[in-house]
Amino acid sequence: MSRKKLLLAVALVALFIAFFALDLGRFFSLGYIKQQQAALAQAYEQRPAVFIVGYLLVYIVSVALSFPGATVLTLAAGAIFGVLVGTLIVSVASTVGATLAFLAARYVLRDTVQSRFGNRLADIDKGTEKEGAFYLFTLRLVPLVPFFVINLVMGLTRMKAWTFFWVSQLGMLAGTVVYVNAGTQLAKIDSVRGILSPGLVVSFVGLGIFPLIAKWIVDVVKRRKVYAKWKHLKPKTFDRNLVVIGAGAAGLVTSYIAAVIKARVTLVESHKMGGDCLNYGCVPSKALIRTATLMQQIRHAQRYGIHQAQATLRFADVMERVAQIVRKVEPHDSIERYTGLGVDVVQGHARIVSPWAVEIDEGAGRKRVLTTRAIVVATGAEPFVPPLSGLAEVGCLTSDNLWGLRELPARLVVMGGGPIGCELSQAFARLGSQVTQVEKAPRLLIKEDEEVSGFARQALERDGVRVLLAHEALRCERDGERKFLVVEAEGAEKRIEFDQLLCAVGRSARLKGFGLEALGIPVGETIETNEYLQTIYPNILACGDVAGPYQFTHTASHQAWYAAVNGLFGMFKTFKADYSVIPWTTFIDPEIAHVGLNEQEAREKNIAFEVTRYGIDDLDRAIADSAGEGWVKVLTVPGKDTILGVTIVGPHAGELLAEYVLAMRHGLGLNKILGTIHTYPTLAEANKYAAGEWKRAHQPKKLLEWVERFHAWRRG
Ligand SMILES: Cc1cc2nc3c(=O)[nH]c(=O)nc-3n(C[C@H](O)[C@H](O)[C@H](O)COP(=O)(O)OP(=O)(O)OC[C@H]3O[C@@H](n4cnc5c(N)ncnc54)[C@H](O)[C@@H]3O)c2cc1C
Repeated sequence: MSRKKLLLAVALVALFIAFFALDLGRFFSLGYIKQQQAALAQAYEQRPAVFIVGYLLVYIVSVALSFPGATVLTLAAGAIFGVLVGTLIVSVASTVGATLAFLAARYVLRDTVQSRFGNRLADIDKGTEKEGAFYLFTLRLVPLVPFFVINLVMGLTRMKAWTFFWVSQLGMLAGTVVYVNAGTQLAKIDSVRGILSPGLVVSFVGLGIFPLIAKWIVDVVKRRKVYAKWKHLKPKTFDRNLVVIGAGAAGLVTSYIAAVIKARVTLVESHKMGGDCLNYGCVPSKALIRTATLMQQIRHAQRYGIHQAQATLRFADVMERVAQIVRKVEPHDSIERYTGLGVDVVQGHARIVSPWAVEIDEGAGRKRVLTTRAIVVATGAEPFVPPLSGLAEVGCLTSDNLWGLRELPARLVVMGGGPIGCELSQAFARLGSQVTQVEKAPRLLIKEDEEVSGFARQALERDGVRVLLAHEALRCERDGERKFLVVEAEGAEKRIEFDQLLCAVGRSARLKGFGLEALGIPVGETIETNEYLQTIYPNILACGDVAGPYQFTHTASHQAWYAAVNGLFGMFKTFKADYSVIPWTTFIDPEIAHVGLNEQEAREKNIAFEVTRYGIDDLDRAIADSAGEGWVKVLTVPGKDTILGVTIVGPHAGELLAEYVLAMRHGLGLNKILGTIHTYPTLAEANKYAAGEWKRAHQPKKLLEWVERFHAWRRG
């Protein structure tokens, strides 16, 4: 907290303490006001303007400083000014005072709260932005939450001061009238509590929940409007509870969950069961990486005490093995398996024809329409190919057609410095290609911390990849049989000759050709959904790469649960997709694994953190494996063992990360990891040693000094 803020906080607390220490509360008691009623009325009569200004100041200051007594001042207003003027004055004074308290809380505490609870606050802020006015209005109307608490708590959200001001003014009006009116009968009032009869409180509660009911009605009306033009197409009965479009990770898991909970579900796939992950992504790429790693180990056999080792690689065999592995995994995602699990699987192209009907084109002129209560869109994403001039003439590989390659490219240019680009650059370099990797950004793996990007670059360069950062691909050129990529860096152009060009610059969601346009479902880079994964039609949901915000198999299947449950039971209860603990791994060697916040994200979000590091070069098992490089970096809440995020760079980092993912998911801190036995000698011990580093840095130094003295005393 800055000096200025600290001073203000101290001054406010001092004033608050002084209020009680000097017993100033006696001037805000019902008894005192009753006693002074005649004198106050006389003062008002003599100099009304001065009196009103004085009254306003006292009221505003007492509310701004959260002194108790606003109720009594409001009664006094009724007694002195009457209902109309009293209501006007109190309304202005209470709103101005409340807004000052709101601003003071924001100025003094917001940054501190933000840095401690930024992650959780982000969700509250989003909610406040959307529905904060509704909630504030309700809170103001229902006299159950203390007035000053609302002022202070709202100051910690991102609600605009103006919104707070006018909603407060409006929300407090009914209560103000009641109290000012009661004040006109001041002599008859014995206690402030007595003013609000149970009946009146119930009316206020009714008024308070009115905006929520109104909002619900608005939502229903909006929904009806969206469905209105399709209403005539709504079937009386439905063939299915759920139709899922796309049998990648997202669609498979969605349909499986639906079948488990006994829904009648159809899964439609137009191409290959298993989607990108099985056929073009995770599985083949990891199979390729395995061979590449083996080649690298053979190449560096001397590191393991082997005098000489040689391997002759036949690329076609390597790719055949990759294909075999895909075939071996295929049964996991097959039609037979899912049919056995209770899912009706249909091969064909699906198109949404109404909010309750999906047309399936099974080829050879066979088409049929299934009516359904809900639809989940899980159509995935496809490689993005940038519109470079000359690209069509030279041709390019993407993750879609790469796996058909049977000849190792002598010179491979990889466009893209993200995870896919890095994994494939290293793998091809290890298999023997001369790889040049071109990235527009100044570093690889831009979502990771800078030191991680630097490490990745070193790892790739060590394996022979020529990494060109801050190089923008401009165009492709062909000169007879020779092919070039023209790039630009610092204003100068370079021509890079290649035999094959691999495009790995990102993946775009599949949004076209299956009915979204006709239904008017808004799309940006992905389908637009709410937190429940619902589109503007609450019975049409989306998950996986087509919905974003992540593009991983595990996030697709995580979302699938929400899509299935919200699609089938949304009329009773909906669940917000939870993205609080999202892990990912980039499978270069050494691996880079990540969960929660890293340093750059924490700084961007202004979240305070402590960093603990453990170097894997110190780990017995890693040394025994001749793989002692990398580190475990843990971000924690300052002074606490609560984990905010972890980045592990090192051998099998993706496997090591699981322990931290579990810890974060279930709120286990570093002390718990430290108190867990880890088998010796394993790489997983790195996690425990990182926790040990944290513990060492947080030793109770003073206590240990005393313990040292105790031992000295015991020795005599
Ligand atoms: C090279 C590469 C490596 C990767 N490595 C990893 C990794 O290591 N770890 C990881 O977590 N992720 C990885 N990914 C990402 C991962 O593959 C995707 O995030 C995942 O496949 C997304 O699943 P999905 O179900 O959303 O989409 P997809 O798997 O794309 O499935 C969508 C399916 O929908 C079908 N479809 C589309 N439209 C229709 C229609 N109208 N009718 C019927 N069917 C339709 C498509 O044919 C497709 O089969 C990698 C991706 C690539 C390209």
